[in-house]
Amino acid sequence: MMLVRRMKLRREMMDFRISEEQAILKETVQKFVAKEKLLELARIHDETGEYPFQLHKTMADLGWLGMCIPEEYGGNGGDVVGLFLLIEELSRGALIAGNIVFRNVVNAGLAILRSGTTEQKRYFLPKIACGEFRFAFSLTEPNAGSDATSIVTSAVKQGDEYVVNGNKVFCTGAAVADYIQLVVRTDKSGPKHMGITVLLVDAKRPGITIRKIKKIVNKGMETNELFFDDLMVPAANVLGRPDEGWQHILKTLAFERIFVAAMCLGVTQRVVDDAILYAKQRVQFGRPIGTFQAIRFKLADMQARLEAARLLCYHAVWLIREGLPYERAVSIAKLVASETYALNSTEGMQILGGYGLTIEYDMQRYFRDAREFVIGAGTSEIMRSVIAKDMGL
Ligand SMILES: Cc1cc2nc3c(=O)[nH]c(=O)nc-3n(C[C@H](O)[C@H](O)[C@H](O)COP(=O)(O)OP(=O)(O)OC[C@H]3O[C@@H](n4cnc5c(N)ncnc54)[C@H](O)[C@@H]3O)c2cc1C
Repeated sequence: MMLVRRMKLRREMMDFRISEEQAILKETVQKFVAKEKLLELARIHDETGEYPFQLHKTMADLGWLGMCIPEEYGGNGGDVVGLFLLIEELSRGALIAGNIVFRNVVNAGLAILRSGTTEQKRYFLPKIACGEFRFAFSLTEPNAGSDATSIVTSAVKQGDEYVVNGNKVFCTGAAVADYIQLVVRTDKSGPKHMGITVLLVDAKRPGITIRKIKKIVNKGMETNELFFDDLMVPAANVLGRPDEGWQHILKTLAFERIFVAAMCLGVTQRVVDDAILYAKQRVQFGRPIGTFQAIRFKLADMQARLEAARLLCYHAVWLIREGLPYERAVSIAKLVASETYALNSTEGMQILGGYGLTIEYDMQRYFRDAREFVIGAGTSEIMRSVIAKDMGL
């Protein structure tokens, strides 16, 4: 009897199927991608550099910005696996669509849900869910990139407000944000990872100057440099505990990594889809190039790498949902998914020959955009360091 029960448990643990609900969600997103012409939209925003406000609103109206946010705070509930599938499938249509959900639901909504006060949850979460508030996240500074605990942007408490001074760099979405989740130094007397505080900052307050950074990736979402000159932030807007913000940030970064991986998987599937289509259509030496072994094997390798990355990611997000230790799995998933995207898009460019280098084909955009993912949310080198540390090295 005991053995039978144990075998049953094992069968459940190895169930790789997605649920009926998750299958419906994926299908709904695929229909949305077609109906809203997301492939076309991605091209337009890459060219104009403008933020897709209407897409943001439409996805909010569909309830997707309320995913994982409890109903009592204006959301639709659901779990992180569903959110992962949503971001993956949206990114297959347009990275920028997955990115909107990522920045607002994952980086802001889930962070507030984890560490916010009841008042903060009541105020911010419904506004994120309905698309009224857009959020950005600002940790990186000119002298604190991978070495993030070296931040020096300071916040000094004066009465019931903090006075913020300093400079941030690479804050994506700040120019269109209503609020910025800002990581500041409130105490420099102790170890570097202590004395860090997270503030929810009204992006339109006086004391903030926002400068555009021209870049070659994710062009539909501006990335900004921020300057703070005596910016006043109410103490009620501290997210989590003052001086203990690093613990909150570690969780935010772990979630950032797995959902960045979701974006990578989605867009990598599009890379493979486009490369297969091209290999079937392009004829040289009297036959489709997809019949040459050199190209066939490239495509088979691309598919194999993608499926391996997908399994790692699904496992990692499942660990999060089940409340099991996930740190190593998340770092491995982010490392493999982002490097798979970078490598597959490079191979995609080779398959398209000279046409890959023209703006007419999307492959050049996928190839450009891939560079962000092996850098942002922790570089590949930092991911390897985290994994090695977890291995006792
Ligand atoms: C397009 C874009 C958008 C971004 N958006 C945001 C955002 O919204 N919010 C935000 O806070 N940040 C954002 N970032 C910042 C991003 O997280 C950092 O760029 C990243 O953490 C790396 O920091 P860095 O660029 O200063 O590189 P550095 O840390 O200077 O690294 C340079 C090189 O040295 C390597 N290196 C550094 N330290 C080590 C080490 N200990 N061991 C081995 N190798 C090492 C790195 O891997 C890298 O190859 C964004 C970046 C980009 C490019």
